[in-house]
Amino acid sequence: MSRCTKAYIYKENLRNNILQIKSLLSENTKICLAVKADGYGHNAVLAAKIAQECGVSSLAIATVDEGIELRKNGIELQLLLLSLCTPGEMDELFEYNITPLVFSKEYINCINEAAKKIKLQNKFEVHLAIDTGMGRIGCYPQEAGKQARLIEDSGNLHLGGMATHFALSDSLSSNAQKFTKQQYEAFCLAVENVKKEGINPGICSCANSAAILNNPEMHFDMIRAGIIAYGYYPDEITRKYLKSKGKNILLKPVMSFETEVVAIRRFPKGKTVSYGCTWKTSKETDIAVLPVGYADGLLRRFSPGLLVTINGKKYPVVGRICMDQCMVDIGKDNPDVKLWDKVLIFGPEESGALTTADDLAKLGNTISYEVLTSLSKRVVRYIKE
Ligand SMILES: *Cc1c(COP(=O)(O)O)cnc(C)c1O
Repeated sequence: MSRCTKAYIYKENLRNNILQIKSLLSENTKICLAVKADGYGHNAVLAAKIAQECGVSSLAIATVDEGIELRKNGIELQLLLLSLCTPGEMDELFEYNITPLVFSKEYINCINEAAKKIKLQNKFEVHLAIDTGMGRIGCYPQEAGKQARLIEDSGNLHLGGMATHFALSDSLSSNAQKFTKQQYEAFCLAVENVKKEGINPGICSCANSAAILNNPEMHFDMIRAGIIAYGYYPDEITRKYLKSKGKNILLKPVMSFETEVVAIRRFPKGKTVSYGCTWKTSKETDIAVLPVGYADGLLRRFSPGLLVTINGKKYPVVGRICMDQCMVDIGKDNPDVKLWDKVLIFGPEESGALTTADDLAKLGNTISYEVLTSLSKRVVRYIKE
């Protein structure tokens, strides 16, 4: 039978979040849902199926393999490859109809040559990546016209869209918002450069979750939503902040991470717990053992500080988190915690969890994205209808 340490994906919450995103868009704005990293840890195929039902038009992936998995599971939406692949993977772009982000003469030539070899009936769609300040992939805005010309004159490729990515849109400081505006304006300039070459720029996109919520004037033809679809607000763009701006957007976490109490042991005063003997009982108490550890994605740095929910109350994880187990101080003779009771590590309100991935992120000095994508393969994901 199934292991008690597992994750549930609350399908209705994902649907809710996509519809909440939709409510912020004008009628013609398309939605691209980021399902990279296995749908931010939620199961990409499941997220893609719900996206398809909700009228999403594209899915964003990070690797060719992620695209192949989606295609093999019957997903027919456009797949936008956000990271670069290498020549060894290019044949699969055509075989599985994956739309790459491109820039640079070498990369464009290489994809064009690969396309030529397999003699496609139609020209193959690519999107041009522009680096407007992210400092990652893309060409500079002033090179956009030239690069678009390279694509259109390649013989086997055509320009289907343009994209850039914001580095600071989740911060509210005036400097940060100024930086985002400059990125946006640089992107507009790049689009204009392409038009001046007499080339249609296609579907242009720049807004990530933070900009979707906070910069509606930057939605362009398509938005690219990630973390908000999975129920988490991007950094400073909180529900409260949005409310103060007249936007009542309710995002619901989609995943719960759960386990069960597998032992309760009486510890005397002064007994240490776990590796390094970093924590010691200050009085006689009962310690619950949980079969979950850092190999499941419960990062070592979450302890001390991590609180788990058992029957509607929070209890502290004590001592170091081990690879496969951790310990919780439930207090002596606690009538509220029994052997094999359910333990929630994080999750939506509906799961009964009193903590979210954001709480864990704060503890681990990271962001909800990393907490969610850290859940390992060992944690089986189940669908909660
Ligand atoms: C991951 C990613 C997104 C989505 O980002 P969120 O902050 O999760 O909305 C959008 N665009 C690109 C290029 C990305 O890599």
